[in-house]
Amino acid sequence: MERQQWDVVVVGAGGAGLRAAIEAREQGARTAVICKSLFGKAHTVMAEGGIAASMGNVNSGDNWQVHFRDTLRGGKFLNQWRMAELHAREAPDRVWELETWGALFDRTKDGRISQRNFGGHEYPRLAHVGDRTGLELIRTLQQKIVALQQEDEREFGDHEARLKVFQECTVTRVLTASNSGSAAGGDRVSGAFCYERESGRFFVIEAPSVVLATGGIGKSFKVTSNSWEYTGDGHALALLAGAPLLNMEFVQFHPTGMVWPPSVKGILVTESVRGDGGVLRNSDGKRFMFDYIPDVFKEKYAESEQEGDRWYEDPDNNRRPPELLPRDEVARAINSEVKAGRGSPHGGVFLDVSTRMPADVIRRRLPSMYHQFKELADVDITAEAMEVGPTCHYVMGGIAVESDTAAARGVPGLFAAGEVAGGMHGSNRLGGNSLSDLLVFGRRAGLYAARYATESATAPVVDEALVDAAAAEALRPFSAEGPQAGATPENPYTLHQELQQTMNDLVGIIRREGEMAEALDRLGELRQRARRAGVEGHRQFNPGWHQALDLRNMLLVSECVARAALERTESRGGHTREDHPGMNRDWRRVNLLCALADPTGVLTATDPARGQIALTRVTTDPIRPDLLALFDKEELVKYLAEEELYE
Ligand code: FAD
Repeated sequence: MERQQWDVVVVGAGGAGLRAAIEAREQGARTAVICKSLFGKAHTVMAEGGIAASMGNVNSGDNWQVHFRDTLRGGKFLNQWRMAELHAREAPDRVWELETWGALFDRTKDGRISQRNFGGHEYPRLAHVGDRTGLELIRTLQQKIVALQQEDEREFGDHEARLKVFQECTVTRVLTASNSGSAAGGDRVSGAFCYERESGRFFVIEAPSVVLATGGIGKSFKVTSNSWEYTGDGHALALLAGAPLLNMEFVQFHPTGMVWPPSVKGILVTESVRGDGGVLRNSDGKRFMFDYIPDVFKEKYAESEQEGDRWYEDPDNNRRPPELLPRDEVARAINSEVKAGRGSPHGGVFLDVSTRMPADVIRRRLPSMYHQFKELADVDITAEAMEVGPTCHYVMGGIAVESDTAAARGVPGLFAAGEVAGGMHGSNRLGGNSLSDLLVFGRRAGLYAARYATESATAPVVDEALVDAAAAEALRPFSAEGPQAGATPENPYTLHQELQQTMNDLVGIIRREGEMAEALDRLGELRQRARRAGVEGHRQFNPGWHQALDLRNMLLVSECVARAALERTESRGGHTREDHPGMNRDWRRVNLLCALADPTGVLTATDPARGQIALTRVTTDPIRPDLLALFDKEELVKYLAEEELYE
């Protein structure tokens, strides 16, 4: 089996992974990037609306403190506050830096980077490139990587001397090594076990630092805006290596996905449509969002359509329309309208820009949406309303990390950034805050991973038994057998569909205790059957085999979501319990950590139906007083637990 030695391995080539790799390489670390898809095709290219940073280009009232405040409000105060602070402070520098690397953002009339409105952001804050911002972000980071490789070509005669991309390769295990004698304790990272998707060939990369930047988990749900890559690999890799996941119950259902035709159900309709003036209507033609402004936001949103409309021209003297409430609020409102029988013909509601903007402005500001609806649904959005409904979009839960360093808790040498990391967004992410998160914490992860690698006194020794076990695990689908001798093995695609249906129906946008308990039972059965998931043929590009391997990750992550959702008996952000409808202030300081219940795997091997995840409750640190002082006392009373207010 081929072996290579690097200082830092970055798993993932989306915004977070590329930014981490650039930083690690600039710190002098020899850095390898591994990604499942082609280089340049990561999920980040799908990002549409923009990147949030308080540059104040369109409204000079904006600054990092306002951005921090909005982010905490959006996350219902469950955010890891130090991450939210770093993010708000550093996002403008990361955007300006992108520009110096060649990104071409849309401009204001006086030539500055333009910024648009988005839900939950007090001021126009999203720097954007039409509705194709992610594409420009990835293009720019790739260009920077190529520039660094050209430097190495000049210096060493080898453009991959210090930065190499392994594309279309999948990591199935983070390898560890005994860390005995170290003050940090616990097994530390020693590398990654990978396979090439095209040839099926296995290889090992030995490295003291691994950065996980693998994105989200949406492919565990039936209706989702996420790409095929979102099978929760990084979440599962961390769990299996011994690092816990934080607050996995918080899954964002974006309010506006396409609902028709069925083949495109779930594809995203960007929030920029509402940011630029689009409105939501029910089948009676009513702008229903005015009926759904929750008490905590009452003072900040317009009371009438007239006031909401005036806000677009005169934001200083009017309040924003409720179509721009945080996503969790809008998604729940749409769900309620459809349930009440006031939905559109295909089970959504109407989103209209055609009566709000001239056709040429729509085509210029929302070019992707115009083409998406024209080509996929034969709808001309300059002339008629779109039909939209909630779609699984983003996971706020993720690997528990140290705020400043992006180090994963519990496993020295493991780092995480981007959607795979938890904490930054609390219970609900604001639109645009992901792209900025990728850059802020991607940079930090690369920086600290490089430092850790260079400061490691001794190189970790890869445990050969782990390599053999990883290879055997990866090969198991080729020798899988049915439940009885001679019976056919399980089909990985069927299992995946059943998993998606289970999560969609039982742990979806509105949750109930009995349904989540049923989901956990079904996940147990699916896990048993997944051990018998078999494939035919050989290892050369075999999508059925890839699917069989991804199932392990999706099942692990789905169990985390279901278990944590059952435990949290309140509704907050991306977690709505019909049986516990209100936000409960006592839960504000409670974080739920998921870890492997049986790290040795002995018990689950003999009884695969056995739950794999153990939950613990952890109390968050109190929010720093100078950050709390950014809020009015009346507002804090709505969120903070009694004892926190007292303190
Ligand atoms: P990704 O970009 O998904 O990259 C993950 C990488 O990991 C990929 O390269 C993948 O191949 C690799 N990978 C995964 N598993 C493995 C494995 N096992 N082995 C090797 N490689 C692996 N956010 C905003 O802030 N603004 C927006 O306007 C916006 N618009 C969006 C529009 C859409 C349609 C969607 C779906 C999301 C949008 N988001 C937006 C969210 C945002 O795009 C994502 O949260 C973000 O791009 C995630 O970036 P990432 O770097 O964490 O992961």
